[in-house]
Amino acid sequence: GLPAVELRLENARAGYRTIEVLHGIDMAIPSGAVTALLGANGAGKSTTLRTIAGLIPLRGGSLTWRGEQITKMTTTNRAKRGLMLVPDERAVFATLSVRDNLQIIAEASGHPDITPALEAFPRLQERLSQRAGSMSGGERRMLALARALLARPSVLMVDELSLGLSPKVASELFAWLGTVADAGTTVILADQYTEEALALADMVYVLHRGEITFAGTPAELGASELLAASAP
Ligand code: ATP
Repeated sequence: GLPAVELRLENARAGYRTIEVLHGIDMAIPSGAVTALLGANGAGKSTTLRTIAGLIPLRGGSLTWRGEQITKMTTTNRAKRGLMLVPDERAVFATLSVRDNLQIIAEASGHPDITPALEAFPRLQERLSQRAGSMSGGERRMLALARALLARPSVLMVDELSLGLSPKVASELFAWLGTVADAGTTVILADQYTEEALALADMVYVLHRGEITFAGTPAELGASELLAASAP
């Protein structure tokens, strides 16, 4: 049968000050799968993730999580339900060691063992006593993802995973996200329109200027592009 819907946005509107960025979008995010939110710079991908995490309010429409209305729920209560956004590599404590960055979140989540994060990212094992702020952008991004993993999210949202990373590190992290979804976590990946994001995704939404212009599987997206290309 069809996978359960983890999150549902209906006619969602959001923006900043006097600017409306999302003009009434509908999304149904399947549970335990990877959903890719694709589009150009400024399309509204980050704004969509911030809206789901509760960092900016909906100005219209609704958001439900596993059938529960969370449109007006605080960011903290959404975090308690496991809605977690990894905005970028700055989502680490720069002055703390790698170990302390991991330990703090592991203890807060009630599962103080940091081993799962080190198994997922062996490179962090070699850097345990290094200050997070002195690592490369790619390593800090790994640390931010490792912290998110230790928080045991129900929904892991990752904004522009590949930004500023070498192709090799980006591939490793994409592969890792696939294993996270295979283990049952719902993953939402906001990214430019890349082959790698498409290869990983079970479901794709394409955003253009704050509106959804495509919703479907990667195969359906491929077919729709072929159709568009062969149109007279
Ligand atoms: P990018 O890849 O550049 O992050 P995006 O698809 O994630 O693109 P958003 O970051 O959601 O797009 O931005 C959508 C629009 O909202 C843009 O016009 C942007 O200038 C505007 N915007 C984003 N953040 C803010 C903010 N904090 N204050 C005001 N306007 C903002």
